[in-house]
Amino acid sequence: MLLRHTTTEIKDRTALTVNPAKTCQPIGAMYAALGIHGCMPHSHGSQGCYAYHRSALTRHYKEPVIAATSAFTEGASVFGGQANLMQAIDNIFSVYNPDVIAVHTTCLSETIGDDIPQIVNKAMAEGRVPAGKYVIHANTPSYAGSHITGFAGMTKAMVDYFAETASARTKTVNLIPGFVEPSDMAEIRRMAAEMGLETIMFPDTSGVLNGPMTGKYRMYPPGGVTVEALRRTGSSLGTVALGHLASGDAARALDVKCKVPCQILDLPIGLGATDRFVDTLHRMAGVNVPDSLTFERGQMVDIIADMHQYFYNKRVGLVGDPDQLLALTKFLVSLDMAPVYLVTGTSAGKKFEKHLRAAVAGVPHEVQIKVGGDMHLFHQWIKQAPVDLLIGNSYVKYIAHDEDIPYVRHGFPILDRVGHSYFPTVGYRGGMRLLEKILDALLDRKDRDATDITFELVM
Ligand code: SF4
Repeated sequence: MLLRHTTTEIKDRTALTVNPAKTCQPIGAMYAALGIHGCMPHSHGSQGCYAYHRSALTRHYKEPVIAATSAFTEGASVFGGQANLMQAIDNIFSVYNPDVIAVHTTCLSETIGDDIPQIVNKAMAEGRVPAGKYVIHANTPSYAGSHITGFAGMTKAMVDYFAETASARTKTVNLIPGFVEPSDMAEIRRMAAEMGLETIMFPDTSGVLNGPMTGKYRMYPPGGVTVEALRRTGSSLGTVALGHLASGDAARALDVKCKVPCQILDLPIGLGATDRFVDTLHRMAGVNVPDSLTFERGQMVDIIADMHQYFYNKRVGLVGDPDQLLALTKFLVSLDMAPVYLVTGTSAGKKFEKHLRAAVAGVPHEVQIKVGGDMHLFHQWIKQAPVDLLIGNSYVKYIAHDEDIPYVRHGFPILDRVGHSYFPTVGYRGGMRLLEKILDALLDRKDRDATDITFELVM
């Protein structure tokens, strides 16, 4: 029993988090920055933060994650980090030659109150930023928000720094994919391309954090949105933003700055959400839904119809980031499953909680929801009344192990398996993969627990 100290009795806790269900803002900002082609993320703080953020991303994506740091010592902690950042900008452009340096702050530099735009302006005035190169920033103090708000902040910075207003509109559609896997980003782009659309996706980590092994190290892999494409987002026909928390701010900022209308949707996880995504593209761009997507949709419906009896009324516990949690919950409800315990570590607000409660309104079980909660509470709920399936990141494996519950890995971080960065869980194809994973977990358990008499060949 790895979590043997978890008690069944629940006591009110307001100032203590045990086994958090989130991580810190700069990780999300760093991930988003890697979705710009030729970008060096820069952590304005101490080396410890930067090392942790890089290692968290490296362990999840199994790829070397590049970043730089202001390397605060005692002096910078007292007098501020301006001198460190100025020196860093000099060094990074001369040694690593990126197109963009994307600076995010940390708890320490935020507590000091370093003014990043002022420092960057000073660096530019002193000629430390070469012509045609850029330094952008996002404020990411980790005592507020989570990796999701950090991702949202850096994605919005791409709009604030680069989007340009144009007199004429193009036929391009902007896609803001949310904090999803590189494989999901590629799948979202593929579906739009199937519909004949020209798109700009930002950020776009496909090809950056799931590239092939070539035997040759490239600091800036071919993937990622270019600065030139980011500039053109301001003249696009419209923006489809996926995930309210991770993508909403950037979409609204683009609307305000360049008058590009936006539609903010759930992540396209599951049949209904993918239908809404496809329908939105169809309406926004006036294009038809091709037979190829209708075919994939039909395959997904076929799996659901064939295997519905195994989904029906299964009690599920989910831990995840808000956008994933909401979309997954709706998907499970549509399968007639019963998501009964829902936890996200990110404080996503009352509106989010309202949407989550509405999603489970028809579930014929008592449902527990905690927004801004932790995995300790989640575990206590399970101890009080068990579930048939757990869905969450790698930290959920401790609960699955102790309570002997089938478990599907989904979300961030996944540290003990591969596949997530190569195979999507969004769209119809991704939905089929998710169905397969859920069925595998449930049916493997059914096989394991079967007696000689109940053991079935055909299921
Ligand atoms: S929580 Fe703050 S101090 Fe800790 S690693 Fe994250 S940014 Fe650094």
